[in-house]
Amino acid sequence: MTATRDYYDVLGVPRDADETAIKKAFRRLARELHPDVNRHDPLAEEKFKEAAEAYEVLSDPERRVTYDRYGHEGLRRGGYAPNFDSFTSVADIFDAFFGGGGPFGSASGAFGDFFGGRARGGTVQGGDVAVAAEISLADAARGNSVEVSYEAVSLCEHCHGNGAEPGTPIDTCSRCGGAGQLQSVSRTPFGQIVQATVCPTCGGDGRVPREPCKVCRGRGRTVERPRVSVDLPAGIADGQRIRIAGRGHAGERGGPSGDLYVLIRVREDPRFVRDGDDLVTAVDVSAPMAALGTTVTVPTIEDAVELDIPAGSQPHETLIVRGAGMPALRGHRRGDLRVVVNVVVPRHLDREQRELYERLAGSMREHNLRSDEGVFGKLKRAFGG
Ligand SMILES: [Zn+2]
Ligand SMILES: [Zn+2]
Repeated sequence: MTATRDYYDVLGVPRDADETAIKKAFRRLARELHPDVNRHDPLAEEKFKEAAEAYEVLSDPERRVTYDRYGHEGLRRGGYAPNFDSFTSVADIFDAFFGGGGPFGSASGAFGDFFGGRARGGTVQGGDVAVAAEISLADAARGNSVEVSYEAVSLCEHCHGNGAEPGTPIDTCSRCGGAGQLQSVSRTPFGQIVQATVCPTCGGDGRVPREPCKVCRGRGRTVERPRVSVDLPAGIADGQRIRIAGRGHAGERGGPSGDLYVLIRVREDPRFVRDGDDLVTAVDVSAPMAALGTTVTVPTIEDAVELDIPAGSQPHETLIVRGAGMPALRGHRRGDLRVVVNVVVPRHLDREQRELYERLAGSMREHNLRSDEGVFGKLKRAFGG
């Protein structure tokens, strides 16, 4: 299914997008769609592969030119095959990225930016990790903490990241001569293509431990499953993210760790609809009670309040309980609780009720029924305006 969509459409960039825009678009999609993060969308994995393939082509100037001129078919005939057919977890990407070959082979380029980069020499910051956390509306109002657990690459404690069993020597890689890269020349209908790929023997380090670390099998890194307690600010809303610096993937060669992004999902509360900092709820009031006035119990996020329904309340009139909404993320003011009066007209009247209603109906005078609103005002109220 991945081969048919236009790569520019997949990434959501214009055809003249520059390298930075393409990179940004892929990073955004990858954060959103990585199957370890997005467990709600059953198509996330396919979409992620599609995005990764689009990025792999559009981020490579030669492939991009071929694609622009000859489309998907031109790429296939040019010998290009997508590399994203069979991964399941961040551990697989990690495998590809830190050696081990596998289905990713030369795909590390696509993930280099996302999972921490592979620049030779110097330190490299670790990649960011995104997880989702689901909380209740009450949690969001209180600002409780939530615990998340996720997969992250961390430095191997046994070998301190150099991949060698402690006390054993590390040799220069004989396959790439220490360069960390292999160049391959392929002949295609579109001319010769010179491609640099990460050396599969040393995984790009240029150095190979004579005796690989027994814990990390020579990678210098392990995949851990840390648990982190995240403090939520009171009033947080669905879809907001919290960034926790330094809790992402470990860096390379002493580089800093990436960050953890926690995407907050607030479960729907059947009692309320949230509107910014306000909460909206509805209470049923029988038509006679609406005419006479009454007191009803209205749920609040923590508890309940008694609310006076004034005599003569009309359908869809809204009463305000000040400060009973959600706390504002910024500032101290709380939102309000807006209570919509749902006037219920009695049905299935028995004989006595019917007689009472008939007497009541017959007694109506114009001033009982007069409203100061025009048709427009009445409709506006009915539609919640
Ligand atoms: Zn190790
Ligand atoms: Zn090598």
